[in-house]
Amino acid sequence: MPKMIYLDGAIVPEADAKISVLDHGVLYGDGVFEGIRGYNGRIFRLDEHLDRLYESARSISMDIPIEWAEMEKAVVDTVNANGLRDCYIRLVVTRGPGDLGLDPRKCPRPTVFVIADRITLFPAELYDKGLAVMSVSTRRTAPDALSPRVKSLNYLNNIMAKILANIAGMPEVIMLNPQGYVVEGTGDNIFIIRKGKLMTPPLYLGILEGITRNAVMEIARSMDIEVAEEAFALHDVYVADECFLTGTAAEVIPVVSADGRRIGSGEPGPITKKLIRAFRDLANSTGTPI
Ligand code: PMP
Repeated sequence: MPKMIYLDGAIVPEADAKISVLDHGVLYGDGVFEGIRGYNGRIFRLDEHLDRLYESARSISMDIPIEWAEMEKAVVDTVNANGLRDCYIRLVVTRGPGDLGLDPRKCPRPTVFVIADRITLFPAELYDKGLAVMSVSTRRTAPDALSPRVKSLNYLNNIMAKILANIAGMPEVIMLNPQGYVVEGTGDNIFIIRKGKLMTPPLYLGILEGITRNAVMEIARSMDIEVAEEAFALHDVYVADECFLTGTAAEVIPVVSADGRRIGSGEPGPITKKLIRAFRDLANSTGTPI
């Protein structure tokens, strides 16, 4: 069965899911997207993902041509059309076709498409053993240049960091903001734990407000773990007892070393392991039915 794609109101076979070469999503990376997960026949936190999508669009002054409820239906229908129960969903809204200039006023109608597929996570053993990460010289975009809170189609900033990770043979990296505070990975949020307190960078430092990040903070609070959105530097990562990354694709994954410094015991820590289990339980038991 061919992969079925939602494109501008219709669900079509992948071979027919084509967009214009004059689409500004292609010409300029002008557009927004979401990465969403389906677990066990339910879509995890679909409302939050759709809210973030519409907010990203609003921030870049783009009117998504379909209403929220229709977008929700497009996502559910695409998953169903592919007969998937566990999946990764990519929802994309581009500025749409225009002329060769960058003026978005020349693009009368944004293009909407949804792809539902399986996901390749980090190799399973890394969830048990943990990741070694390093910091990179590529700084995360400053919020006063282009806010990292916009999940835009322009991921070159993160891709530049990923290239450095690839050169070094590292699975993921730590990105700093222009002031040198730790902000996030190339596609994940970061947490550290010190003396029982869970810390993650605040939004104003320039991060994407991760859906997984928010879920993990909720879970931690429900376990009476102290949670703080607080600025920290690489030093704090090096001396942390535990560290982990969160993201829709990565879920919750332990980090056991940073820039060659062993974090804690050098193995995934007890609080991280508890949070991984609780996150998996939550993801497998809640969400919008497919
Ligand atoms: N930061 C960046 C830069 C990302 O691309 C992602 C993945 N969308 C995240 C954080 C994690 O966000 P979420 O938990 O919503 O997937």
